[in-house]
Amino acid sequence: MTKKTVQRVKHVPQRTCVGCRQVLAKRELVRVVRTAQGVRLDPTGKAAGRGAYVHALRSCWERALKGALAHALKTELSGEDREQLLAYVAQLPQEEESSESHPGQQGNDMMP
Ligand SMILES: [Zn+2]
Repeated sequence: MTKKTVQRVKHVPQRTCVGCRQVLAKRELVRVVRTAQGVRLDPTGKAAGRGAYVHALRSCWERALKGALAHALKTELSGEDREQLLAYVAQLPQEEESSESHPGQQGNDMMP
């Protein structure tokens, strides 16, 4: 086991996406919170309860909903929870399979 050196430089709170395990600034991620009513999105990021964070990306949500989210929240997602989250995922934009951007044009235009 190798331990990573602790960095205490940044003031930005960082969280891990339960889908892809990337660590990012909290505001880059969507918070999900476990409430007495079930697992819900927390757009304010301030709801009380155990929270988990996921990218606003379908691929991350797919992985999260396959079990990572339930695991992170130490609960089971009910059918209703899942439905609400899937409704949210459904309105996210589709993403490209490849995350690589192709340099299509080499800014070749001449200034007049
Ligand atoms: Zn992610």
